[in-house]
Amino acid sequence: MGLVVQKYGGSSVADADGVKRVARRIVETKRAGHDVVVVVSAMGDTTDDLLELAEKVSPMPPARELDMLLTSGERISMALLAMAIANLGHEARSFTGSQAGVITDSAHGRARIIDVTPGRIADAVAAGQIAIVAGFQGVSVETKDITTLGRGGSDTTAVALAAALGAEVCEIYTDVDGVYTADPRIVPTARRLETVTYEEMMELAACGAKVLVLRCVEYGRRSGTPIRVRSSFTSLPGTLVTGSIDDHRTDGEDGTVEHAIISGVAHDRSEAKLTVVGVPDRPGTAAAIFEAVAAAGVNIDMIVQNVSAAATARTDVSFTLPKTDGATAVSAITAVRESVGFDSIVYDDQIGKASLVGAGMRSNPGVSATFFKALADAGVNIEMISTSEIRISVVTSAGDLDTAVRAVHTAFGLDAAPDEVAVVHGGTGR
Ligand code: ADP
Ligand code: ASP
Ligand code: MG
Repeated sequence: MGLVVQKYGGSSVADADGVKRVARRIVETKRAGHDVVVVVSAMGDTTDDLLELAEKVSPMPPARELDMLLTSGERISMALLAMAIANLGHEARSFTGSQAGVITDSAHGRARIIDVTPGRIADAVAAGQIAIVAGFQGVSVETKDITTLGRGGSDTTAVALAAALGAEVCEIYTDVDGVYTADPRIVPTARRLETVTYEEMMELAACGAKVLVLRCVEYGRRSGTPIRVRSSFTSLPGTLVTGSIDDHRTDGEDGTVEHAIISGVAHDRSEAKLTVVGVPDRPGTAAAIFEAVAAAGVNIDMIVQNVSAAATARTDVSFTLPKTDGATAVSAITAVRESVGFDSIVYDDQIGKASLVGAGMRSNPGVSATFFKALADAGVNIEMISTSEIRISVVTSAGDLDTAVRAVHTAFGLDAAPDEVAVVHGGTGR
């Protein structure tokens, strides 16, 4: 039997009992004959707690030191897990990201993996040991400093290691029974998906479905590593992320198989909306605004520019961005106010984004109509709209977001029967 990489999220190892439960699960896999490499996250809400602690001693902690602090969360859980496994009579060795060969660039807080050289992990496995790797961290190839991969980054560590080790599957253990048609915390009637393609999972993750982080799905797609999302609290099969929306299998009547039209609804509360009011309607102004935002290192998501009122020859430009970048973006744009000649900036962080994702959208023209009708019937006002080939997203007020998600979920017939309510086994949803 081949090598399996298992990743356990913070909610699965929230306390000592959780660590022991996970240790038993790992040992069971080992006893079944597999080689096992484990990636573990910080216990419970440790990372959030550490971030709050840092904020108390400094409003703008140096990025290098913040990474040093945050990586300690995963070191605690990896060592405890190795101890718990040893207590069950199996040999386990814990490794930091750096020891495991996770090589990154030097962008603290959002480092990208550029290489994985898991020699020590392979040696441990060859010696019959269970290797436990601290998730979410690596070492910069340039500075040799410790880096973190961004929130949720243990998922990426796991898939990157699975790819580098040629694992047969990367299992992501969490507090829900798989990938659902919506976040079960908001839509209890959400249905578990048996499988979902990499592309659809990438859209869901990019739109806020934090059950998997976007980069891990990108990594899985590139390396062809199957990812199975399942609960560490049950033995249900979970959801397999695999295949492409362009796969045409030959078992359908006409030689192809139709994908489900819609795979799910995602939501995101992490963004804010910034409106630059009274922008002179002439070539070059949008470029000047977005150059200033880009130079400040802020990534933007949706952009809307209204047609100028003919009389004023001025227009408004709105865009969404991570709330955490709000202050940076406002000061970057304020700095070009004179040269661009706009009137004012309006910053709104009380917004939410709801996104409908499905490969079948490409060939079903009625999808947008159903989507907007559902929002209208629910009395939800739409502030912005954007689309991709397999996604429609809208920005609503923060207060309307849950209503919007549920309305769209129901309108597309995604609700499960009332007796099949999705279970959230743990975690605070933070
Ligand atoms: P972990 O601590 O295991 O990394 P996360 O909190 O990062 O867990 O991710 C699991 C959570 O993702 C679930 O508890 C659920 O609230 C949320 N979630 C959001 N969208 C979905 C979805 N479509 N399917 C399943 N879970 C989702
Ligand atoms: N502990 C990190 C976080 O909370 C990484 C992870 O859990 O994936 O974001
Ligand atoms: Mg996670």
